[in-house]
Amino acid sequence: MDPVTRTEPSTAKTVSPGTGVGLRCWGTRGSIPTPGPETVRYGGNTTCFELRHGGSRLIYDAGSGIRPLGLDIVEKGPDTIHIFLTHFHWDHIQGFPFFAPLYDPEDSIKVIGPKQKDIDVQNLFAGQMGPIYFPVPFSVVAAEMEFEHLNEGEYELEDVRMQVMRVKHPSFVLAYRIEVGGHTICLVPDNEMEGDMYDVGPDWKKRIVDFVGDADVLIHDSMYTDEEYERRAGWGHSTFSQSLRLAEEGGVGRLLFFHHDPIRTDDELDTIVARVRDGALARGCSVEIEAATEGMDVQLEADV
Ligand SMILES: [Zn+2]
Ligand SMILES: [Zn+2]
Repeated sequence: MDPVTRTEPSTAKTVSPGTGVGLRCWGTRGSIPTPGPETVRYGGNTTCFELRHGGSRLIYDAGSGIRPLGLDIVEKGPDTIHIFLTHFHWDHIQGFPFFAPLYDPEDSIKVIGPKQKDIDVQNLFAGQMGPIYFPVPFSVVAAEMEFEHLNEGEYELEDVRMQVMRVKHPSFVLAYRIEVGGHTICLVPDNEMEGDMYDVGPDWKKRIVDFVGDADVLIHDSMYTDEEYERRAGWGHSTFSQSLRLAEEGGVGRLLFFHHDPIRTDDELDTIVARVRDGALARGCSVEIEAATEGMDVQLEADV
């Protein structure tokens, strides 16, 4: 599969600039890139999403999916790019050194993410391009770069309004609530709904339900089945059923499972999604359920 050219998977509509809000999924795999024939449909690249609404390039996370996105940007010409990060685990930043616009002096890139104690965003990025990890030093980056911290509160960019919230996963990890064009998309990355070992405050459960409240689309970490979770509690991730419970409690319209486990084949994911969907329908749950697919465009029509 070539995610640069693959634009229209079976269940998705294509976004036309100016007609609505679209979210392109460039990487939906969790933990480590997982290429191969058994993952070709849902994709093997790690976390990267792009918000398309006719304005600036807004990118969420820099997993290996940002590499083909970078090629797409280069093909279309220099741009002003904003990259919002959820956290700094490898699968969310590993594609950054391979992001082609970095090496074009005509590109402008702003990276916004959560500071980790005393380590700022620039040092976290430059660190992964040190000579022990990567052959090309950060000093070779030619694009105009800017770094900014975002650990709590709101962030506005043109007509896009974002709120962030710390979620339950090792280190300081952000979820994003993105409001644009009368629509709301919530991106909740690595997050362990049931974990109790995280320093997130006593009312966290209520706050996360409010945070995703009435979203058109919720994209949520769904690595494990209930059976698998019995052996994975404390690993920082949620189950399919936990994600669905959050979507229901928040009154979400459409739920996309993501951060697919590297061991999960396409066929297994099909089976799991069908089972969860059937169970939800049987008890009258109205949430639309599917698994995020690399190359998928999630389109929300303009209604404002
Ligand atoms: Zn991850
Ligand atoms: Zn993580």
